[in-house]
Amino acid sequence: MKCTECRGTMKTKRENYRYAASGLPVTLAGVKVSRCSKCGAHEVAIPRIEELHRVIALAVISKSGRLAAPEIRFLRKFLDWSGAELARHVGVDVATVSRWENGQQPMGPIADRLLRMIVGCRQPDQGYSVEKLIGVRGAQARPTRIDVREAKGAWRAEAA
Ligand SMILES: [Zn+2]
Repeated sequence: MKCTECRGTMKTKRENYRYAASGLPVTLAGVKVSRCSKCGAHEVAIPRIEELHRVIALAVISKSGRLAAPEIRFLRKFLDWSGAELARHVGVDVATVSRWENGQQPMGPIADRLLRMIVGCRQPDQGYSVEKLIGVRGAQARPTRIDVREAKGAWRAEAA
């Protein structure tokens, strides 16, 4: 395999890969990463990415701490909504959504639960329980570390 940047040789091995593209502290355990020894470019093979995003979204809405700015952004993108669409669905203006997502304004506890519900409703087969809303607590919103690994052909998340 040749590097697309410099035509150097790429070496492939399995590693724990920080999935920075998600915007969240997500680590994919044991995925195949090819790295160029010459220029340092890398390519990662992530199978079944839609399923992976479902699993991450479920882990995020299942956490007990309040939703953090990058998690709100991840969930909105997961819904395939613009900021304006999220604003319309939760009944705020678009400037509020952008303040939530850039961390200038914490999301209130009701909007937090509403967003979880919307994501949970989109995935009824994932078995999200509204009972989990009772467990949401705390004022501090920090992104939860999530480790995801592929086992028996399915992605599984463990919130760290
Ligand atoms: Zn290279």
